[in-house]
Amino acid sequence: MRVYRKESERLKETESLVGSNLPQLGLNKKQEIVRLLFEISKKEGVSPPSIIQDIDSLDFHRLKLCLIKRRFPHAYLDNEASNPYLPKIRLDRRLCVDPKKSGFYPKRIFIEKSAWRSALANRFRDFFPDSKLSEISSLKDYLRTHRKFRMRDYNKRRSTAFITYENYDFFKKCPCTTKAVGCPYNIFNLSLGCIFECTYCYLQGYIDAPGIIFPANIDRFFDSFSSYKRPGMRIGTGEFSDSLMLDHLTRYSLPIVDFFRRHTDVRFEFKTKSTNIENLLKTRHSGNIVIAWSLNPQKIINQNEFLTSSLANRISMARLCSEAGYKLAFHFDPVIYFSGWQKEYEKVIGLVFESIKPEAIAWVSIGTLRFNPKVKQVIEARFPGNKILDAELVPGFDNKLRYPSKIRCNIYKAILKMLFKHSRKLPVYLCMEDISMWRGAGLSPTAITKSNIVSQT
Ligand code: SF4
Repeated sequence: MRVYRKESERLKETESLVGSNLPQLGLNKKQEIVRLLFEISKKEGVSPPSIIQDIDSLDFHRLKLCLIKRRFPHAYLDNEASNPYLPKIRLDRRLCVDPKKSGFYPKRIFIEKSAWRSALANRFRDFFPDSKLSEISSLKDYLRTHRKFRMRDYNKRRSTAFITYENYDFFKKCPCTTKAVGCPYNIFNLSLGCIFECTYCYLQGYIDAPGIIFPANIDRFFDSFSSYKRPGMRIGTGEFSDSLMLDHLTRYSLPIVDFFRRHTDVRFEFKTKSTNIENLLKTRHSGNIVIAWSLNPQKIINQNEFLTSSLANRISMARLCSEAGYKLAFHFDPVIYFSGWQKEYEKVIGLVFESIKPEAIAWVSIGTLRFNPKVKQVIEARFPGNKILDAELVPGFDNKLRYPSKIRCNIYKAILKMLFKHSRKLPVYLCMEDISMWRGAGLSPTAITKSNIVSQT
């Protein structure tokens, strides 16, 4: 709450400054100047009045340009700051996340009628004897008849679980992003929602259900897989949730590993930031299962990936999985740009290769921080003390907010160099980047085929 108070005081001071110095401005213009002043003040740790003092004119266009130059210096120089995203700042104490509140013990468990007697529902009954269970005809009906989902409901999502019976939405192609080079990837659509709290998570602007959703009928997914399957495909569960966050409860990994023993021409990926690998270690697999961890320096984990496991634990779990014969993947995604980032990422990569042989790695992805513009206000409101929004984030080729192109390109080149120092053969791809960025980073997009991810410089 201390952080919230500090930032809301900053906002009040900025609004009153703009109100008294620029009373002639209309609402939208005021809002833009307030945001620019607020962001500069937060990033540089200076007071809003001192920023205005340095500017010789309070003419709106002159003032805005001066502030943009100061707020987005790199993007401005490269003509990428002509249209920065400057929405109204909305801070609300009720939306702030308490990053210490961990655990998953839903007070309410809603179970669709067709899943009422499922094994998954029974496991929830055993795990959560104090929860209130209710039967619902369907999640769709429930959502239709209950009040509209609001941002603050997202903070309470861990107190509600929905156990559903999925009938249609089993798999989908990863939508990637407009104009980007696709990898291509497929989503095994199991679970929606996550128990962790990452400041940058896109789910906070995507999910509109007031709880976490767990399908009970994984067998129906398997039944429909043959009509979706393409030999050589990559598919995984980590898109709308963390694949292993509650695997001790859902046990999804057991039937999945078993099922894909019969589909050795497909590679299945579990993506996680957890240490929940116990089930995986006791099951028999056929070498086509890939266990993946997202990696970031511990400093970034501490500031942004609340409730997740430490970097050291992620790497230790990866080593155990590799010893059990699983293939591994690592996702440097999102890479966060900060002063000293290069040294910190080099350390992370060094730690990985101290424990893991390059041959055990099925693929590595790299993607810098990016998100849909509307997520910016959500991050700001939920994590008012965050540092990630202090960076220069401007609309990119797909209109998502991203670091300026030169910064991204330098990050990719540097991380590729760090990785290839350990093995030239590592299969690496960029996530959600356009062809010019691939080329700038020295990677050939033609190396991505339907069945392979191959690095090439
Ligand atoms: S672990 Fe992934 S899905 Fe969960 S909050 Fe973090 S980014 Fe979102």
